[in-house]
Amino acid sequence: QGDSADYDREVKSVCPYCGVGCQLSFKIKDDKVKYVDGVDGPANEGRLCVKGRFGFDYIHHPHRLTKPLIRRDDAPAKGLNVDPENWQAHFREATWDEALDRAAGGLARLRDDAGTRVAGFGSAKCSNEEAYLFQKLIRQGFGHNNVDHCTRLCHASSVSALMENVGSAAVTATFNEIENADVAIVIGANPIENHPVAATFFKQFTKRGGKLIVMDPRGVGLRRFASHMLQFKPGADVAMLNAIMHVIVEENLYDDQYIAGFTENFDAMKDHLKAFPPEKMAEVCGIPADTLRDVARTFATARAGMIFWGMGVSQHIHGTDNSRCLISLALMCGHVGRPGTGLHPLRGQNNVQGASDAGLIPMFLPDYAPVGDDGVRSLFRDLWGTEFSPDKGLTVVEIMDAIHAGDIRGMYILGENPAMSDPDVEHARDALAKLEHLVVQDIFLTETANYADVILPATAWPEKTGTVTNTNRQVQMGRPAVPPPGDAREDWWIEVELAKRLGLPWTYTHPSEVFAEMKHSMKSFDNITWDRLEAEAVTYPSLSPEDPGQPIVFGDGFPRAGGRARFTPANVVPPDELPDPEYPMVLITGRQLEHWHTGSMTRRATVLDAVEPEANCSMHPSTLRRLGIEAGGMVRLTTRRGTLVVMVREDRAVAPDNVFLPFAYVEAAANILTNPSLDPYGKIPEFKFSAVRAEKAVEA
Ligand code: SF4
Repeated sequence: QGDSADYDREVKSVCPYCGVGCQLSFKIKDDKVKYVDGVDGPANEGRLCVKGRFGFDYIHHPHRLTKPLIRRDDAPAKGLNVDPENWQAHFREATWDEALDRAAGGLARLRDDAGTRVAGFGSAKCSNEEAYLFQKLIRQGFGHNNVDHCTRLCHASSVSALMENVGSAAVTATFNEIENADVAIVIGANPIENHPVAATFFKQFTKRGGKLIVMDPRGVGLRRFASHMLQFKPGADVAMLNAIMHVIVEENLYDDQYIAGFTENFDAMKDHLKAFPPEKMAEVCGIPADTLRDVARTFATARAGMIFWGMGVSQHIHGTDNSRCLISLALMCGHVGRPGTGLHPLRGQNNVQGASDAGLIPMFLPDYAPVGDDGVRSLFRDLWGTEFSPDKGLTVVEIMDAIHAGDIRGMYILGENPAMSDPDVEHARDALAKLEHLVVQDIFLTETANYADVILPATAWPEKTGTVTNTNRQVQMGRPAVPPPGDAREDWWIEVELAKRLGLPWTYTHPSEVFAEMKHSMKSFDNITWDRLEAEAVTYPSLSPEDPGQPIVFGDGFPRAGGRARFTPANVVPPDELPDPEYPMVLITGRQLEHWHTGSMTRRATVLDAVEPEANCSMHPSTLRRLGIEAGGMVRLTTRRGTLVVMVREDRAVAPDNVFLPFAYVEAAANILTNPSLDPYGKIPEFKFSAVRAEKAVEA
């Protein structure tokens, strides 16, 4: 903190971390960010968490990429063996022209080699315009839809269920709407660590008497503010939620007027729920029947209720079923479309909502237009002047499998780090090593960049211009605060230069031109202009040039045929890999307050890394006693995919015989252990449940 004497200018922008989308002000002196203050944005009202306030100095880290790099002809074999301070044995510096020619030339060669596919991973950390350009480059440049990003590892199953049953993939109400609610369910989410500023609004809600129902296999921090804490068995979400809905039906607590006016398929749902009485489900989910009944009555009889969920819901092979249940629960109580009601999947990255909206997914074009729809494709053919495949593309994990199968031989990866973030990550690393041509565009020499043939140095978020869309559907302007280091360039500029070398007639000279093009195919941006966003945040949909946007949607019907939302019954599907005598415990991976995803930014942020410098996992004290391990000792974790050794903490919030393992640490990469089995609809891996064995690690 400081006063105006400590800086010579300030720039208002948006936090680069989570989907809350806090507005902030970079205080700058001599082209360095000195500190950060909160700004009164629509989501944060001036508040910031530790990441937003103290996590900014990664942009000034000496590991920043400042020149394009090309793999040396005499480089050692590809692998995780590049020291970011001593990379010269692997790469050589190049001019932008040479690097772009090499990058595009390799991709074009594979494209033109019959039967060869090239895939792309874009980034939820880039702007809306950069996400749009990335998916356009893959579709227009390579003629197919093999383009995806980290939403596949995050809320893909939530999107799948929301599209199916509500007709829209975004939240129906902002999280701030909780101030008008009487009751809120937070399930499979840990907002105090992962959406900290949103969590402050949740805590305030309880202070004024709101009932907070927290459901999670871990005793997450919000339990201290909860009227009900349901610490259910991992993977038992559907059993628990069906039991709650069973009570609502059995006791006639549902809103029949709302159901009749705005929904379909309720009779089938009612029939389905007969098989899930709480007395039968209590054993399955580990929650007493009385508690399930009490929660059902509390939520159903409230005047206004909201449901928030996170990756504890989505990252399962039954993630879509979990979300279907949450949607049904809200619909049967009429808790959608009014003040204090709504469905809100808490989005992870700062622009995962916007990147998905912009079409950075293999089954949808911008605004979730299906790629298989001829009318939709003809609209884009007119807009882009090129034809592309009507077939859905491959998703993140499927792309790695396709590389192993020899069907994909080249990739363009922008701002993603699959060598850390993919499940069964050794499988993903082997795939990256097999690629004949890999172009990586990033701000650091990430684990994925270790496998690159060409590395293109990009700007960090505080060095670029562009719009982002947060979890609330609020579109906000990001502004450059400091100049990029060395020869690093903005992602959109690099995309344009690559596209030109792939033969595409791109002439963009500023992100505002891209935004203007996006508006031709994205109704969600109606009444939102670049000039407006320069002046204010706008929540989509915005009904007129003066409307700041609609925080609550679907009060008068849903964007589905007939305007009705749908009840889709879900059955109990067990996790893919249940504990057995060889792997008797349950591994759950996730995030910590101080570290962000694969750690490439926060582990280079001085304050954050000082607070959490070491890879760790957490277990219940009774589990540690049984294993004969002291808190702070080392534990060996082994699954069917691999093994790692990591320091263990004692934590009563973790259920006995469960292990919680953050995934930000390369030295104990959690995804060495995780299960790549996929939800059949959202194609999201089961990060939240792997069978694991834990043993005391013998010190060397
Ligand atoms: Fe940034 Fe999210 Fe923290 Fe807000 S809550 S400051 S957006 S990390």
